[in-house]
Amino acid sequence: MNTEAFPRGSPKPNGPRVCVIGGGGTGAALAYDLSLRGLRVVLLEKGELTSGTTGRHHGQLHSGARYALGDRAIARECYEETLILRRIVPEAIEYNGGFFIAIGEEEAELAPRFVAACLEAGIPAREIPAARALELEPGMNPALSRAVWVPDGTFDAWRLPLAFFAAARALGAEIRAWTEVLGLDRSGGRVVAARVLDRSREPFREELVEADYFVSATGAWAGKVGALAGLDVPITPAPGAMLAARGRLVDRVVSRLRPAGDGDIMVPQRGLSIIGSTQSVTDSPDAILPAPGDRDFLAGAGAELVPAFGAAPVHAVWAAARPLAGRSSDEGRSISRDFAALDHEERDGVAGMATIIGGKATVLRAMAEKAADLVAAKLGVEAPCRTARYALPSWREYYGRKA
Ligand SMILES: Cc1cc2nc3c(=O)[nH]c(=O)nc-3n(C[C@H](O)[C@H](O)[C@H](O)COP(=O)(O)OP(=O)(O)OC[C@H]3O[C@@H](n4cnc5c(N)ncnc54)[C@H](O)[C@@H]3O)c2cc1C
Repeated sequence: MNTEAFPRGSPKPNGPRVCVIGGGGTGAALAYDLSLRGLRVVLLEKGELTSGTTGRHHGQLHSGARYALGDRAIARECYEETLILRRIVPEAIEYNGGFFIAIGEEEAELAPRFVAACLEAGIPAREIPAARALELEPGMNPALSRAVWVPDGTFDAWRLPLAFFAAARALGAEIRAWTEVLGLDRSGGRVVAARVLDRSREPFREELVEADYFVSATGAWAGKVGALAGLDVPITPAPGAMLAARGRLVDRVVSRLRPAGDGDIMVPQRGLSIIGSTQSVTDSPDAILPAPGDRDFLAGAGAELVPAFGAAPVHAVWAAARPLAGRSSDEGRSISRDFAALDHEERDGVAGMATIIGGKATVLRAMAEKAADLVAAKLGVEAPCRTARYALPSWREYYGRKA
């Protein structure tokens, strides 16, 4: 598909009014998608934009290779989305590629099956000689015996969603940070209004926001927000910790060639190298901190991938909560990384509201498309998704600055 110029100067949307709750990447992409379809959008975010999981993740533009052994469809979708994002928002992406490296016999034996799984998912992975991989990325563990190149990349956790926010706002969406939804009012079996607390300026004030349809794009908070409307949303907030060391020790994403687990990905971000992550579960995604022991575990895991990591000064250790779609008793490990748009009318007999859950930052546009398709169908709007078509405005535009 060709990339067209952003449709500036389009008539302001005048369709039904949709309230998007949650100002992370998913909410940003959804506000943009709905605005492009001619819907009037108001987005409510309780903190600063991207202050949830979106502003605190690893920043890996997943080629899908990490998921290829477990789920080809998720892997394929990741890769297809990276191709779209590279066209529409190149400014936020460093397309540097990645290596999966085998340390030890078991990992080495996995290489052919891993490459085959990637190729089946449409991901152009290829094994390259270990010595050549080390020439290209000399920081990697010299004990590696096999290396597979994959089309991974990195992206800026803030600039990517901000470009979507800028696009939504340019089309007339109202983006309201520091506005928390405290309640969702139902009338005649339908969600009709959000009771909000606006903390964007003093004095703080409570207010009613009415809309024709509500979508919760609240990630790990989706259970709490659903409960405000009396809904039981199946979500597992699964915190993970990351450690950033000073120094760009590699230029590509470097992952362990083994089934996805803890401490097996190193991502270069500007002048830092970030190892992640761990996984546990929690009821409350607010104020998540790394667990005792995370720092030492991650430092050790990082040094196994890139030996210099062990001696590099620590820049930060932090954690965020994955919004895993579903429930499980095994710390969320058996929950798929897929996403779903829940139609609460069909599922729970409550009209006027949907929830988009699961997924990952790389697939924010696809998540928004799925949710917006549902909203459009509910509201009788025929306009199709067009978000893969246009180059997004610069993230700077969100703050009123020229690109
Ligand atoms: C450790 C870790 C590493 C990860 N690494 C990667 C990676 O490298 N690549 C990748 O693609 N993905 C990664 N992910 C996954 C990715 O970060 C998430 O899937 C994604 O950021 C979720 O975005 P979201 O917009 O759905 O949720 P969020 O960003 O959490 O947004 C939800 C928003 O809703 C708001 N909200 C909650 N309650 C209310 C309310 N009552 N009223 C108003 N607003 C409310 C919150 O404040 C929040 O801002 C990682 C996740 C973790 C935990």
